[in-house]
Amino acid sequence: MRAAIALRAAGEPHVTLLGGEGMPSYDRPALSKPDRETGGHHRPIQVDLAGVEVRFGLAAKSIDREGKAVVLADGSSLPYDRLLLATGALPRRLGCDPDGHARGLRTLTDADAIYGNVATGRRAVVIGAGLIGLEMAAELKRRGMKVHVLEVGPRALGRGVPAEIAEAIVERHRQEGTTFGFDARIHSVERNGVTLADGLAIEADLMIAAVGIEPDIRLADSAGLACANGIVVDSRLVTSDPWIFAAGDCAAVDHPRYGRMRFETWRNACDQGAFAARSMRGEGASFAALPWFWSDHFDFGLQAVGLHDPLRLSVRRDLPDGGWLRFELDANNRLQAAAGIGPGNAVARDIRLSEKIIEKNVVCSPDRLVDAGHGLKSFLKGGA
Ligand SMILES: Cc1cc2nc3c(=O)[nH]c(=O)nc-3n(C[C@H](O)[C@H](O)[C@H](O)COP(=O)(O)OP(=O)(O)OC[C@H]3O[C@@H](n4cnc5c(N)ncnc54)[C@H](O)[C@@H]3O)c2cc1C
Repeated sequence: MRAAIALRAAGEPHVTLLGGEGMPSYDRPALSKPDRETGGHHRPIQVDLAGVEVRFGLAAKSIDREGKAVVLADGSSLPYDRLLLATGALPRRLGCDPDGHARGLRTLTDADAIYGNVATGRRAVVIGAGLIGLEMAAELKRRGMKVHVLEVGPRALGRGVPAEIAEAIVERHRQEGTTFGFDARIHSVERNGVTLADGLAIEADLMIAAVGIEPDIRLADSAGLACANGIVVDSRLVTSDPWIFAAGDCAAVDHPRYGRMRFETWRNACDQGAFAARSMRGEGASFAALPWFWSDHFDFGLQAVGLHDPLRLSVRRDLPDGGWLRFELDANNRLQAAAGIGPGNAVARDIRLSEKIIEKNVVCSPDRLVDAGHGLKSFLKGGA
């Protein structure tokens, strides 16, 4: 959608947007947490698509690369000069749940099915203590359910979030009454609960599988495009076919800072969509935007920028309003990543400034990073 809008704004005369879901586009982040404006889990994306030919509910079935056309589910075909694949991702399935008793969460249909089973006092098991699993746990708790989270790893948010922040989030969940089982090996998922490898049976009325996503490469793969944990694209988002581009959750991009990476965040999808539009028009150099995400847990807001690496030197800054940040520095004291947590949006401004500091490769004194009296803006004015 972002690419289509940008292409139209740039004066492209014929832009077609195909969407496999039979409804206008919506923001997925609201599916697992109440939207801050409406309180609901359905947040339609309000954008002006004037001039874009929009076809929702019509999937692309295959790509005829030689004839430069997309074959649609209704058998018709759509010629293209440039094609963008922004096919997103699919929830990972649990091998121990072949019948799919634990529900995945990716679409509005998934969310409606989950919330349709929510009632005060009912028992929920959430499998996976990643961002979406924990957000779901908070939302089910807020709606009055008894929630137990099972995680195969030794801690929550093992990917991408510093351990200390993950612990603070888990503690917040525990305060609300949610229980956790770490290092949990699930033997099987049945209609009424899960059985762990040690024989323990946990009964549940609702089970959610939040165990990550797989990039949706089906269209690209069947068209013979290079794929490896996503649709392989260069730093301009061009696939192995010079007329085909890929962006968002499905794209494994050659990032100038990180090497080949696939980002699974909302802002990345927006940034890469807009960037792909420029690239499709022969403009734009390399996609170099830093990864940034947010996540909400009860009254706590988490934000992070850059890529977390537990092996880096890291320092903590406590903020006056109860929030705090963790900064990660490389061997030359250049900021590489920052993550923060606090009430509501407490850390938003500092994470925004951290992003600029990382982009500018500023050398930062760890002592000054720790000191909340030393505003982050000053690091941008010549380093500190
Ligand atoms: C529950 C949930 C909560 C999230 N919360 C956050 C958050 O708090 N912060 C954050 O940064 N990120 C969050 N994310 C991640 C963010 O939503 C995704 O990174 C973003 O949606 C990726 O956008 P995309 O356009 O790449 O893919 P998608 O949003 O998946 O869109 C891809 C679209 O392509 C369609 N499609 C696929 N194949 C075809 C085909 N053959 N023909 C036609 N259409 C097709 C799909 O139906 C889909 O509509 C969340 C995601 C989920 C699921």
